Amino acid sequence: MKVTDHIKQSKSTLFSIEILPPLKGKSIQSIFDGIDPLMEFKPSFVDVTYHREEYLYKKRDGGYLEKVSIRKRPGTVGICAAIMNKYHVDAVPHIICGGFSKEETENALIDLHFLGIDNVLALRGDSIKSEPEFVPEPNGHAYAIDLVKQIGSMNKGHYMEDELADVAPTNFCIGVAGYPEKHFEAPNLISDMKHLKTKIDAGSEYIVTQMFFDNIKYFEFLNKCKDMNITVPVIPGLKILTTKKQVNILAKIFKIDIPQPLLEQIEKCKTDAEVKEVGIEWCINQSKELIKAKVPCLHYYTMGTSEATRRVASQVY
Ligand code: FAD
Repeated sequence: MKVTDHIKQSKSTLFSIEILPPLKGKSIQSIFDGIDPLMEFKPSFVDVTYHREEYLYKKRDGGYLEKVSIRKRPGTVGICAAIMNKYHVDAVPHIICGGFSKEETENALIDLHFLGIDNVLALRGDSIKSEPEFVPEPNGHAYAIDLVKQIGSMNKGHYMEDELADVAPTNFCIGVAGYPEKHFEAPNLISDMKHLKTKIDAGSEYIVTQMFFDNIKYFEFLNKCKDMNITVPVIPGLKILTTKKQVNILAKIFKIDIPQPLLEQIEKCKTDAEVKEVGIEWCINQSKELIKAKVPCLHYYTMGTSEATRRVASQVY
């Protein structure tokens, strides 16, 4: 079932989660172990992230270095299929521009369609870790909008080869990312919002936000969406802080602000166990306020913290 249909059919705020595929070589059991404790809250859908290749330099005989491309967290599509099969819950694979030609994207979408997956989150993806900026594949997409257009075309039965006859259209519900605190590459928020609007006008049906720790940022973002005539559901993404280190890491990686009152509480903590308690309490308060504001769904970035997510969910659902 489509994410938007889940939202339409519900009278209250839905619960959903995002998970990461395990590191290559690890068992899928770690995914199930993370989802099992959250099933009592009946997630409407589970997002599974996509991780592109990275480059490593391996020492070879003779002392030279070989540049090797590896994917540390493969398995997105398989995990989606496994989740749907085991839990009968909708899975939402993330699909990115980076590393894919248009034809590879088309073939990946055909796989998802055949698996009965109704939803995709369409993203550009970040640059390769060792590279300073995002470089599209030859004959790939440079921005998420181009990916949204390709999926939209397939939904209308237009594949890359025009001459295909008796074509079965796909039927994906397309979600996209939105940034209450601005995407880090955008020169300003208005420019970023204009690009967001093009993704919606091209057929995206809902937005999932980057994590934020101050609900005001989300409410201001909603107002800006309204001003731009963006009327699709805007699903807030929430992350629970569980270690002191994350304060700097999250700010650095996701380019988001940690509110001063939260920072002050964390600075007082002597151990990560204390930080986790602060993080859980903060997220419970954020969640309760968002539910009161009748947001369509709360989307938790679990990132291996399903125990903390369970504690938050048990207080708000
Ligand atoms: P876009 O919408 O393409 O925007 C990227 C930048 O380009 C923005 O600054 C935008 O303002 C600008 N822009 C957009 N269109 C144009 C245009 N036509 N001309 C000029 N500028 C333009 N990354 C992963 O690798 N895997 C994941 O699974 C993943 N999941 C995510 C889930 C969520 C909810 C979020 C919020 C992010 C996720 N990301 C993931 C990270 C995301 O891929 C990065 O933030 C990436 O840098 C931008 O992706 P986007 O889809 O927002 O890009």
